[in-house]
Amino acid sequence: MPAQQTTARIAVNTRAAKRLRGGHPWVYLSDLSEKAPASVPSASLVHVVDERGKTLGSALSSSSSQIALRMISDNALEDDGKQLQDLIRTRIAAAVDYRNRVVHGSDAYRVVFSEADGLPGLIVDRYNDVITLQVLTQAMDRPDLRDAALKSLLAEFGNNVSVVERSEPRIRQLENLPAFDIKLLHGSNSAARFQMNQLDFHFDAAAGQKTGAFLDQRENYAAAAAYAHGEALDVFCYQGGFALHLARVCQHVTGVDSSRAALEVAEQNALANAGKLKGGEIEWIEASAFDLLKDFSSEGKQYDTIVLDPPAFAKSKRALPTALRGYKELNLRALKMLRPGGILVTNSCSHHVSEADFSEMLASAAADAHRTVKILERRSQSKDHPIVATIPETAYLKCFICWIS
Ligand code: SAH
Repeated sequence: MPAQQTTARIAVNTRAAKRLRGGHPWVYLSDLSEKAPASVPSASLVHVVDERGKTLGSALSSSSSQIALRMISDNALEDDGKQLQDLIRTRIAAAVDYRNRVVHGSDAYRVVFSEADGLPGLIVDRYNDVITLQVLTQAMDRPDLRDAALKSLLAEFGNNVSVVERSEPRIRQLENLPAFDIKLLHGSNSAARFQMNQLDFHFDAAAGQKTGAFLDQRENYAAAAAYAHGEALDVFCYQGGFALHLARVCQHVTGVDSSRAALEVAEQNALANAGKLKGGEIEWIEASAFDLLKDFSSEGKQYDTIVLDPPAFAKSKRALPTALRGYKELNLRALKMLRPGGILVTNSCSHHVSEADFSEMLASAAADAHRTVKILERRSQSKDHPIVATIPETAYLKCFICWIS
């Protein structure tokens, strides 16, 4: 039977059709037309049509996610064992080419960022000669598509790299996919040394609370170091990304995190760079950031530079008001502890907190602290985590560098 007869056609409502024509790739389950089949197939290539039957393109389907369809092409592709595999290969090649042009001075970066690279459900990071893979949708989990992705990565980076899979269990669960521990898909290493902005870092896919470093902050580390001075406090320091960069220019850096495992890697990273830190002393404190800031401010501690980089407080839109209260408390305390002429590097990685919300929160904290906050730089994520104009969800990181008087 010719393949085109087996490709399901799924009709979507007017709202979804408008979103897709606007360049956004998602169709929610609630946006399927009454004309759509009763159930969405799992892991399939489907043709998406509007209510009048006009083709909008091809999508990959999920039978369990609220995002039922993720567009991958404006054309009507066929699942003939070749077209999808070719698409994965050309998109991975394009993603690598883009990074070759926009990433400088680092052998660690995000190679593929899911929808932002036209490959929904696939996230690939490179840490020197270790490549990590996250497979987060039913369709990308298909053996033929996984195989196409792996082969393309080896073609791009050479057979000597190791490829390790470590997918986020929570997201796989939404897609009804089995969770698993780390899997070595190619080669023999799961650990690497990598470089960012001339500093050395250690990566081990077999350890750590997430799949590696916060590569999205790479450009912000360098930007922060351009203004940082004196005594610095890096709150939510994880494995020391900001702290190490600050230690190149500050006299003393204190890194704070609640994770002992993260601080152990931070200490290893500090030792690996001992020669490059020009006397900047680093001390690591395992503590809850909220408690520690409260204690330090009541003790009257003062700093010249403070970095705040908390985990995403707003995991959903509903959590936004609570999240903003959390951000405000942290920023208020930090502002009170900064000496005049001090630098605040304040971050939020929640997509649900818009840049406008974040600015408003900062203004409110500044007013309450009776401090003037001059915004030196309004930054976002590093360019290897592309922001696609038609997909607002691809923009999530806010990093404001401010002068406090
Ligand atoms: N600045 C880091 C990334 C921070 S990620 C970098 O650039 O690499 C957020 C960190 O916050 C994680 O390391 C997590 O362990 C830590 N964390 C979460 N809740 C915390 C809390 N209440 N107090 C202190 N640290 C916390």
